[in-house]
Amino acid sequence: MNVYLNKIKEFYHQYLSFRSLRVRIFLIVLVVGVIPSVAMRYGIMRNYEQRAVELRTVTVQNQLKVIADHLISADYFNSNGSDVVNAELEMLSNLYDGRVQIISGNLRVIRDTYGISEGKTIISEEVIKCFMGDSLSNYDDQNRYIEVTIPIIDNQNVSAEETAFEGNTAPGGVKQPDPRVKGVMLTSISTDYIEDTMEILSRKAMILETLMIMAIVVIAFLLSIVLTRPFERVTKAIGEVKAGYSNESISVPGLAETEHIMEAFNQLLQRMKVLDDSRQEFVSNVSHELKTPLTSMKVLADSLLVQEDVPAELYQEFLEDIVSEIDRENRIITDLLTLVKMDKKVSALNIVSLNINDLTELILKRLRPLARKKDVEVVFESVRPVTAEVDEVKMTLVMSNLVENAIKYNKEHGWVKVVLDADHQYFTFEVSDSGIGIPEDSLAQIYERFYRVDKSHSREIGGTGLGLAITKSAVLMHRGSITVTSTEGEGSTFLVKIPLNYISQ
Ligand code: ADP
Repeated sequence: MNVYLNKIKEFYHQYLSFRSLRVRIFLIVLVVGVIPSVAMRYGIMRNYEQRAVELRTVTVQNQLKVIADHLISADYFNSNGSDVVNAELEMLSNLYDGRVQIISGNLRVIRDTYGISEGKTIISEEVIKCFMGDSLSNYDDQNRYIEVTIPIIDNQNVSAEETAFEGNTAPGGVKQPDPRVKGVMLTSISTDYIEDTMEILSRKAMILETLMIMAIVVIAFLLSIVLTRPFERVTKAIGEVKAGYSNESISVPGLAETEHIMEAFNQLLQRMKVLDDSRQEFVSNVSHELKTPLTSMKVLADSLLVQEDVPAELYQEFLEDIVSEIDRENRIITDLLTLVKMDKKVSALNIVSLNINDLTELILKRLRPLARKKDVEVVFESVRPVTAEVDEVKMTLVMSNLVENAIKYNKEHGWVKVVLDADHQYFTFEVSDSGIGIPEDSLAQIYERFYRVDKSHSREIGGTGLGLAITKSAVLMHRGSITVTSTEGEGSTFLVKIPLNYISQ
């Protein structure tokens, strides 16, 4: 049941959810493809309609003008009609499936091809405007007809009064009837044929559009699949690494974007491999380091066991050696635990404001007995009083490790100098010694876990190879830095720089 539910969910996310890139590509292509095709159809239809109406209006107007001239020359208004003109009107009416009305100067309909309004009076805006000399046309797309109104102008028998008429605009801006206008022709012609043509056109365009939309849907679907395929391959490739089938670098050629993802993923993989390698190396180093004292103890104990009548002094001596090996084992374990604690980032620092001068004095006091054993002189130079925000335990580790090393790796009757200074941002803790120094090619490695320049010498003086690793880690946790300069046979100088105010991120 759950499996099906998950499958449905997966399907939804992949093919239906708007968050899916595939769905977005599909919709974008669809919208970009469909809108122009619909707009195009609409535009073309509108354009056709306009052109057809315009053309028909002009044609009818021209024909009406010709008939208007005939009306004047046949003296239609005074001679009670003319058969020739009437026949022309009839023809026009039939040709355009329309109605023609002739209106005389007193707004009376003297001829109607439909024969309905003859004798009646028409007072409409168009007619009145027309008597002022304007030709008018109006397209009524609801009732499907074009209304054309033209004035019947007599330019032949012009009276003196008519000659005096200077246009149809009086000084006050009010239009005056044009005296040359003897009557008006009011025509309404049907636009059915335009509508019919449009309907046929529209049907054809619809079919074309439907086909186009179907093609766009298919294209959008295919594009959405093709464009997102590289992402699927990426997920699959990462999935294989996750499942453990492979941990080699993977390459998924396709889009630049997916290649970038893979590049980043491969870098992550590389980093994980490095971490894994260093973890394995660390584990093998730890095992080796822990085994060494155990092996020594076993050798010592075995040699006592195999011998008969072992003198008590030998027992004493061997047991002392065993105890010192146990101490060593203990030291290694303590140092390892400290290091592991440092590694855990959760081990948040316990930051307090501390007098660093006092802390240094305390550490030196603790280490002076060790120095005395080797007859090493320890000097402390405090340039200024320093108070800083540090973790006391970790800072103690840093300082005591450095001073202890300076004493341990010193010569007989040598010296160790500790200088504490500060500026407005950092305090510096410098430990110099007159010791054996560190070879140049070892300088980069001394902070590595278990690294010792001279293994046997370090072992002799009780080193674990973890001191500087712990020191560096503690310094970095305080967002400080540690540097070393050394000349073999002459001595070394370690310089630690720590911010006075703890920087939390
Ligand atoms: P260890 O416990 O062996 O002292 P560290 O990590 O403290 O380990 O130091 C690593 C190695 O760096 C030492 O084994 C030693 O060879 C070298 N070293 C550290 N400090 C000094 C120093 N002041 N003078 C000379 N060599 C040093």
